[in-house]
Amino acid sequence: MRTIEEAALGASTCTRCRLSQGRTQVVYGVGDPNADLMFIGEGPGFHEDKQGEPFVGPAGQLLNQVLGEIGLRREQVYINNVVMCRPPGNRDPLPDEIEACKPWLDERIELIDPSVVVTLGNWATRFVLGPRVSISRVRGQRFPWNGRTVIPTFHPAAILHGGGQASRQMEALRSDFREVSRALAERPEPVEEQLGLF
Ligand code: URA
Repeated sequence: MRTIEEAALGASTCTRCRLSQGRTQVVYGVGDPNADLMFIGEGPGFHEDKQGEPFVGPAGQLLNQVLGEIGLRREQVYINNVVMCRPPGNRDPLPDEIEACKPWLDERIELIDPSVVVTLGNWATRFVLGPRVSISRVRGQRFPWNGRTVIPTFHPAAILHGGGQASRQMEALRSDFREVSRALAERPEPVEEQLGLF
């Protein structure tokens, strides 16, 4: 298996779909390559496309806030998206764009090997749980997925465009993050730590 740096370098020149034509740069992913917790969003927006890092705009500020509320900093987790290039005008990614980017995301999941995956919003949740799920029906629940635990929740941008900090959606986001914190606390210890007991 190649390293995450090698994979990111390979991805930086990707032209597998039309989104490559309008991007400033590929937004690969950011955070701890050994993280136990991975976040999957939708795709880069204006700020992410300019800076080359996921979730650095207003949605990213909200993500940082709720992470802080469960005692985590963004450097301690891994953050990435279903598509690595900004869709024009922030439109939803199209099915063939998601399909073209899938091998990159599959590889990141394999390389980071998180025990808990949080899908932010409908696109990331459908990537994992299938095309017909709706985020409001599945959010906050745990789903087993390839030996990992997946917990879908609302996309922070949906809260910013909806009711904001005082809304019921925000309350749900906070409650889902507490569930994420519990799931992390319950995960099995890494094999090396178990061996250390003997
Ligand atoms: N929204 C996303 O889904 N991803 C980002 O990186 C930023 C905003």
